[in-house]
Amino acid sequence: MTRPVPGAGEPTRGLLVVGAAEVATMSGGPRRGTAQADPAIAPPGTAIACLDGRIVAVAPEAEAAEALAAALEAGGRHPHAVDVLDASGATVTPGLVDAHTHLLFAGSREDEVAMRARGATYLEILAGGGGILSTVRATRAASEQVLLAHGRRWIGQMLRTGTTTVEAKSGYGLDTATELRLLAVAGRLAAEGPADVVPTFLGAHAVPPEVRAAHPGDVTAATEAYVATVIAEQLPAVAAQGIARSCDVFCEAGVFSADQARRILLAARALGLDIRLHADELAPSGGAELAAELGALSADHLGAPSPAGIAALASAAADAAEGARPVVAVLLPTVPWFLGLDAHEPARELIDAGVPVALATDFNPGTSPVTSLPLVMTSAVLTLRLDPAEALVATTVNAATALGLADRGVLAPGLRADLVAWDVPTHAQIPYWAGADLARAVVVRGHVVAHGRPGAS
Ligand SMILES: [Zn+2]
Repeated sequence: MTRPVPGAGEPTRGLLVVGAAEVATMSGGPRRGTAQADPAIAPPGTAIACLDGRIVAVAPEAEAAEALAAALEAGGRHPHAVDVLDASGATVTPGLVDAHTHLLFAGSREDEVAMRARGATYLEILAGGGGILSTVRATRAASEQVLLAHGRRWIGQMLRTGTTTVEAKSGYGLDTATELRLLAVAGRLAAEGPADVVPTFLGAHAVPPEVRAAHPGDVTAATEAYVATVIAEQLPAVAAQGIARSCDVFCEAGVFSADQARRILLAARALGLDIRLHADELAPSGGAELAAELGALSADHLGAPSPAGIAALASAAADAAEGARPVVAVLLPTVPWFLGLDAHEPARELIDAGVPVALATDFNPGTSPVTSLPLVMTSAVLTLRLDPAEALVATTVNAATALGLADRGVLAPGLRADLVAWDVPTHAQIPYWAGADLARAVVVRGHVVAHGRPGAS
């Protein structure tokens, strides 16, 4: 079903995507406010030409074919060395970008689903040895080979539902050696392809059990001790190896405070890492305010931001209109769904306030074992009251912006040739056929890497 992208140096052919019923280009870059609902649909008859991993043209078919032939000739290749992807009746969009996943872990926690169904609370599950600490135990015990196989398996699932770029957080090691191992595995998966993997260091995901045990009965002292370790030991090791693009902190009342998150993130920035936050998932914890204050790439979850937090993100977005970088709100609507909660992220309020919104899976073994961004889009349309176009913007250009990646999420000449041909005539049907297998063809860097059905191209 999937095949690797040919290696560098291998002669490659051009790819021409033709016949699409609709092409949603996202041209014009990240969107907020009313513009979040504009997917920039190209005129009918638009084709997309790709060569050497990049988009060469988004233009009427004859013009795109000509541009491709000219580019092939200029590179000393035969002008007819072109594969054609027949997208008749399909909707073509940029490849989807999953901007928030905990891709790498070992084990599974289906037992907790049954416990919750019988009425067990989060704290009862934790007291029974479950929850995040059971994943930490399993992950520390897992070899690099086991983690690689796990990563390949679930990236394969993501690719088949249209995801071509995956952010991958560490954070189930909580000790330097395992955190480094998780990031190294993410790096190997990125090198392997075909999906791109963007590693994020999340040492401050939880306080590890051995640090808690060293400070019996004093959670504050244990948390401070671990924050010191993250700053003095883990971050420098991660930065020295150059194996993470950004640093994330779980900023939440009872986990890491806004002050602790600020110290960790400033240390990360000083070491050259981009910064992002798990912010205000369960209660207003100053996370949104901190993300705006620091100019983070993203503030994620935002289940319960304070009004001041939303205002701070809105004002950061308004500043961004004048050249500064926006803080993207990354919403994760399958989490409350999977936990059976009624709580919903205030997506409409954020969009109306002018904050750019992205959507992600939060793929993780406890609260969202979900790999499909189309399913997340469905969830966002139904529970967060997003328009289908807003949901598509949120999983393409705005999600790429949340990762600091300006070379994808948009179909435009010069950008990465990552795209999906969906087996529906309009983007509005992508979230509508809930849970259906709609990706007819998934293209990464100009190569078809996954087919939704045999013989489709
Ligand atoms: Zn998360």
